[in-house]
Formats: sequence, structure tokens, C-alpha cells
Amino acid sequence: DLSNAYPTHDPEWVRDMHADHYLQSWSKQGSRPRVITGAQGSWFWDSDGKRYLDFQSQLVNANLGHQHPKIIQAIKDQADKLCYISPAMGSDVRSELAAIMNEITPDNITSTFFTTGGSAANETAIRVARHYTGRTKIIARYRSYHGATGGALSLTGDPRHHLTRADMPGIVRMLDPYVYRLPTGHTDPAKCPVAQGGPHLEELLMYENPNTVAAVILEPIVGTNGIIVPPEGYLQSIKATCEKYGILLIADEVMAGFGRTGKWFAVDHWGVQPDIITSAKGINSGYVPLGTMSVSTEIHDWLRDTPLPGGLTYAGHPLACASGVAAIRAMQEEDTLAHATAMGETLRTELHRLAEKHPCIGDIRGKGMFNGIELVKNRDTREPLVPFAAKGDAAKPMNDMMGYAMNNGLYLSFFSNVIRLTPPLNISQEDLMTGIEILDRTLEIADKDCN
Ligand code: PLP
Repeated sequence: DLSNAYPTHDPEWVRDMHADHYLQSWSKQGSRPRVITGAQGSWFWDSDGKRYLDFQSQLVNANLGHQHPKIIQAIKDQADKLCYISPAMGSDVRSELAAIMNEITPDNITSTFFTTGGSAANETAIRVARHYTGRTKIIARYRSYHGATGGALSLTGDPRHHLTRADMPGIVRMLDPYVYRLPTGHTDPAKCPVAQGGPHLEELLMYENPNTVAAVILEPIVGTNGIIVPPEGYLQSIKATCEKYGILLIADEVMAGFGRTGKWFAVDHWGVQPDIITSAKGINSGYVPLGTMSVSTEIHDWLRDTPLPGGLTYAGHPLACASGVAAIRAMQEEDTLAHATAMGETLRTELHRLAEKHPCIGDIRGKGMFNGIELVKNRDTREPLVPFAAKGDAAKPMNDMMGYAMNNGLYLSFFSNVIRLTPPLNISQEDLMTGIEILDRTLEIADKDCN
């Protein structure tokens, strides 16, 4: 009889079950984590009553912070009305979210397929691109994360794709427009084909044969792999080269979309119109799993005569769609994009102030509330504080900083030698300054390794 088997959720019991019966993403198993018991706005707290300022917005998805009342109410109302109806049926919230997506995506993007998250959105995007073009190769970049399912992990360039030995064939990789660390021999982005975009892609296509390439997929601003903002003209140049050869451009806006950078989509900063946009996370602040794959009118028209090559039981789940409608409407009503833009400027101004006293800060970059600081041992040589993809002892200063920040009530995220700063878009100025003050003390740990 299991009816009364788990009468209490004592934190020690939660940790025991977590360690012994729960499998955790991207980790060796057996950890005994803090038990989180509640959250509100930019804060969450644990079973000891200790509070943490969420400078990460969880997995960069809680864009409107925790427990936003309008999103919660929409989920409750929808649950009372209709929890599930199959994707082929008409549903008011599904149609409303599709219409809103048409409204806020670039003009050429007019219809949307709903998924359960970013990985499934990218899987569907590459299937559609291959089907539409009749070609198989997909060009992706090294410093990228596109998801954890078969195809999406194969697109991913970061070291996680080495964890499996069954990559999907047909992926070609290009270098990233990483201005702080240009390819060997280059110091000027204006003269570097990789930072320019189009010329590097042209070179690759010379070897690959453009007629075999279905799409280029990229994060317009790289997220997980270090908040890399492309130089002016990069995305336009990639788009022009794609157009020249009939190659589709897929913008993976899973992390950068829905106001994270201060605009609905990161591509909006450069006025670039991709053929396909994928998104998830911030669309509904992550309260219910939801992702999207939105396509151009040309692709939509083509799909009127041929079946969409993909489908999910939970495509357009009513609870998810209701939460997406509520979150986007809340962002419009609360002027969240303008607030994110203003808070982002304040944050970067403060980071530049910190750079005057912390020699470990090598580079500060970002847009809106999508920011990163790259830590170095020496500003002149730009030697990274820890090597790329360092783990264990090699990553000690970064791990020490993460531990210090957490113990002092600040939840931060790291990748290699980059600290990502992605607070909720609606964080108050007061909370932002609290986070910066803890970050200031945290950076002293890295300063010790500077020479
Ligand atoms: N694409 C990007 C840019 C992401 O940042 C992520 C997740 O972090 C994904 C795709 C995968 O999304 P999901 O974890 O919802 O499958």
C-alpha cells in the first residue's frame, strides 16, 4: 500500500531520494542538493529558509521571475476549462498564441508549430529544412547549444556532444564570430572572414557544395557557450550568403527570444529575417513545457501541399499555450522589453565600474538582460582564468566563485571562464544592485589568480 508511504517530505528524505532514485541532467549521479521550497519574483528559497537572488532566471527561462500571478491564473483557468485536446483540433488558446507569434516575429514569419521545448523545436526545424530544400547538410557552429535530443545534440558544438557516440550525420561546423578571441593571426574583426560571417561561410561552401546544404542554424546571440554578440553586419552577411545559394537560415532563439535581449527576438537588433525561428523558455517563463518552430510564408505555403514532417502528442498543449498567451500579454502590459533594456544598461554600466577594480574581468558583453563577463588571468595576454570546458580542479576558481555566490545568496551561472548574468527581465533596480554587490565580492576570488 503506497497511499501513506511518503507522509512527510522532510528535506533529508528528499535528498536521499534525489541521490538514489532520480537521474539528473548532464551530471554524475548521487548529488544531495539544496531543497527548494518556494519562490517569488526574482527570489527563491530553500528548506532552511535561506533566500537566493536568481541572477540566472533558472535555465534562462523564468524571464518574468517566479510565480507571476497572470501566468498562474491562466494555467488554472485553462485547467478548469480544457486540459488536453489533440493537436489537430481547434483550440482558442492555441490559435491565439499562433496569432500572437505572427504579430511579434519578423514580418516574413507567419505560422508556428508548437513543441514541448527547444530541442524538439530544433529537431522539427532541421526536418522541415531538409524536406523543403531536398538537401541534407546542416551547418552549425562550435560555440553553440541546440538541445539534448539526437539531432539537436548533434547540432550542438559544445563539449556535451562528445558525451554520445551516435551523432546524426550531415552536420558541418563553422567558426564563431567571437570578437574577443578571433582565429589565430587575426586582430581586426573588420578584416577577419570568420567575424564577417559571409566570407567564412562562402569558403566552407566551396568545399561542401552549396547544393547539398539545407540550412545554417545559429544562435543570433550565443547563450550557454558564453554570451557571444556578433559584430555589426555579421548576421546580414550570413543571411545574404544563404540567400545566394538557396540555403535556409534557422535562428535558434530558444534562449535569446522573448525579450531576453530587450527585443522580442535577438535577430530584431539587426533587422534580419530568418526563414525559420525556434524558441522556448521565455515564451511562458518556463512554467509549463513549451517550444515553437515558426516558418516563413513561403515554407507555410509549401506545407499546404505536403505534410509537415513531424508531430508530437503535446504539440500545442492547451495549458502551455494558455501560459504563453498570458506571459506575452503580461510582457506587453508591463512594458517588460523597455524595462529589460534599461536594466541591462544599468547592469553593464555597473560591470564596467567593477572592471576598474577587478583585474580578472577581461571582457563585458551582452544586450538587454543577456550578459556575460569573461574572466582572464591577464588582460594583456587574455589568458583565460580557466581553460575552455575545464572540469574538476582545472575549474577550481570558477567553482569556488559559484559556491561563494550561492552561500551568499546569489544564484549565478558559469560556462568555462564566463559568468553569465541573466536575471529576470522584470527584476527591480534594488534587487539588481544587491546582486552586483555580491558579485563584486565574488570576483575577488578570481583576482587572486591574476598576474
Ligand atoms: N537551443 C538553445 C539556444 C538553448 O539554450 C537550449 C537550452 O538551453 C535549447 C536549444 C534546448 O532547449 P530545451 O532544453 O528546452 O530542449
